[in-house]
Amino acid sequence: MRTIGLIGGMSWQSTAEYYRLLNTFVQERLGGLHSARCVLHSVDFADIEQLQVEARWTEAGALLAEAAVSVQAAGADFLLLCTNTMHKVADQVAAAVDIPLLHLGDATAEAVRTAGLTRVGLLGTAFTMEQDFYRDRLAAAGLDVLVPDPDGRAEVHRIIYDELCLGIVKSESREIYRKVIADLAARGAEGVILGCTEIELLIKPEDVPLPVFPTTRIHAEAAVAMALTGGR
Ligand code: GLU
Repeated sequence: MRTIGLIGGMSWQSTAEYYRLLNTFVQERLGGLHSARCVLHSVDFADIEQLQVEARWTEAGALLAEAAVSVQAAGADFLLLCTNTMHKVADQVAAAVDIPLLHLGDATAEAVRTAGLTRVGLLGTAFTMEQDFYRDRLAAAGLDVLVPDPDGRAEVHRIIYDELCLGIVKSESREIYRKVIADLAARGAEGVILGCTEIELLIKPEDVPLPVFPTTRIHAEAAVAMALTGGR
C-alpha cells in the first residue's frame, strides 16, 4: 500500500471526512484491521480564508506548497489537496514536490463520465463556481458545466463559510440547496457536482432527485485506488 499525503484543514470538517472515508475504503478493500497509510498536514484555515478574500492566491499557493514539501518529506507517495477551491493553485503546489498530485477536478470529471453524464451543475464556493480554474478543468474533460444564478451562488457560498466550515448543518440550508439544485435540473443539468468538500455533510444522494457527485468521497475513492495499485 502506498502512503497517501493530505493537505487538509480547509476546512477541518471535511478533512475529518477524508480521514474517515480513506480508512473505510481501505478496510473494505483489504479487510481485517487494515487502514489507510497516510500523512496529513493540516493548515489554519483562517490564514487561507484571509488570503482568498484578499485574492492573494500566490501567497496561499506558497503556503500550501510548503505544506506539500513537508508531506513529501514525511513519506507520502502522492498528494491530495483536500479542497476544490484551492485547486486554483494546484499547479504551484504540484511544482514544489516530486510526488504526483491527484487532481480533484480530474477525479470528479472521471466519476461523472463513468456515470454516463455530460451536462452537470456545479456547486461550490464563489471562487469555484465563478472563476475558470475548476470549470475549465471539467470542460477540458468533456463536461458541460452549469452554475447557479447570482443569488443562488451567493447563498451556496455563504452557507459553506458561515455554516458548513464551522460544522453547522441546518435543515433550512438544505432546503436552499435543494431549490438551487432544482433550478439547475430545470436548466438541463443531468447531475450535480458537490464541488466543495463540505457540501456532502449537508446534502445526501437521497435529498435530491438527480445523481450527485460528492467530491470528498470521489477524491477518497480515487486515492485508495491509487494507493492500492502498484504500491509497495
Ligand atoms: N472545502 C471547500 C472546497 O472544497 C471550501 C474551503 C476552501 O475555501 O478551501 O472548496
